[in-house]
Amino acid sequence: MKKAIFPGSFDPFTIGHYSIVLRGLKLFDHITIGVGINQAKKQFFPIEKRLDLIRQAFKDEDQITVKEYNILTIDFAKQENAGFILRGIRNFNDFEYEKNIADINRKEGGIETVLLFTQPEYESISSTIVRDFLNYDKDVSSFMPPGIKL
Ligand code: ADP
Repeated sequence: MKKAIFPGSFDPFTIGHYSIVLRGLKLFDHITIGVGINQAKKQFFPIEKRLDLIRQAFKDEDQITVKEYNILTIDFAKQENAGFILRGIRNFNDFEYEKNIADINRKEGGIETVLLFTQPEYESISSTIVRDFLNYDKDVSSFMPPGIKL
């Protein structure tokens, strides 16, 4: 059984993240979405809300588990018996960032990273944009997974 984790802050989870997970299910039998508690990032939504949104998005999907974690990502992967880290890339910035972490995670943890390119229509969608819109009371439904309301 091929298992992966999909780690991130997901503050909040967007349709861009959602599409990476759905496409990841063509490669993996099971994906654990790990909502990381990143000390360096100030959170917008509390962790319970972030977990709840993702669980709603995948409520009919038994190949997906959603968990929070506050350990090193490679240790979380090991805890989940996952040999792979799934990540998405939108642009060069994402690529540079992912490349360095993937190298460390392979050397230190023996965990391979699998990168999927974003679908072009989701290229400019980020949690940051969603938060900006929310700060101005704008509708964000087109940035969210289908049927998900914040
Ligand atoms: P992190 O704080 O770890 O960067 P994010 O929640 O911002 O976590 O993102 C998690 C993963 O999803 C990262 O690999 C990121 O590049 C990817 N991602 C974010 N937005 C999109 C998108 N619109 N399309 C594809 N991948 C995306």
